[in-house]
Amino acid sequence: MKRFKTGVILFLLLLLAPLSGCTGATNAANDLFENYGIPGGLALACLDDSSYTRLVLEIDYEEGYKPETSSTDMLVERLEAVCDKPNGIDVKFTLSEFNHQGTWTAEDVRDKSRDAKETEPRDGSTLTWQLIFPSNTYEDDNVLGVAVDASTIAIFGETVDDSAGWFNRPSAEEVENSVMVHEVGHLLGLVNLVYTSPADHEDSENKGHSNNEDSVMYWAINSRSVGSFFSGDLPTEFDQDDLNDLSGMADGSIPTENQLWRP
Ligand SMILES: [Zn+2]
Repeated sequence: MKRFKTGVILFLLLLLAPLSGCTGATNAANDLFENYGIPGGLALACLDDSSYTRLVLEIDYEEGYKPETSSTDMLVERLEAVCDKPNGIDVKFTLSEFNHQGTWTAEDVRDKSRDAKETEPRDGSTLTWQLIFPSNTYEDDNVLGVAVDASTIAIFGETVDDSAGWFNRPSAEEVENSVMVHEVGHLLGLVNLVYTSPADHEDSENKGHSNNEDSVMYWAINSRSVGSFFSGDLPTEFDQDDLNDLSGMADGSIPTENQLWRP
């Protein structure tokens, strides 16, 4: 039995290893056995309305790192288009101190976000996704944001500010717009994090990401160098393959795994 369990965990580690980086899932195999799950683990709770009728985006930011209104407005709009939430999608801003020195690891993001959390991800009929905006950078300072479990992302404002392109095209605000939708896209399970798409749109070299530069899930949206890939408009929308994956997960025609909740 013990040998069997070790084998399963090794298999999961191998399976999940390519997800490290933007999805911050280096230790995701351990998290499969915890309540907070892996990125995509509350995708159905968002897509479906039968238990969670309201979504709250808890935005915990350190002084100087509050996201732009354009970013949170866009994020709500994108989520309203795919998640069925009859009682609405609300944003709650809290000025926070994470009491963290130095750069961040995915584990730091998990620990500090849990300390700051105002409510549990699932509370009554409300689903809460937490977005933290700390000072300092990720341990790999090319990373703009990470999704670390089923309900938590971090966006690194210093790196976002550094990623603006020549002549401010794209601007830091435009990068932030795209990165926030991108990271929350990982919470929705994109691309292939908790399901296998019938469409061939996952980038072969950047697992968990799209190969379509017109999708907000395009792999380069993850990185500080995004400003050198795009000299103008960044993608801010899920493409048709992404949307088809989400609707297939919602109606059950695409099987999902590692869900913390199912309809
Ligand atoms: Zn990503």
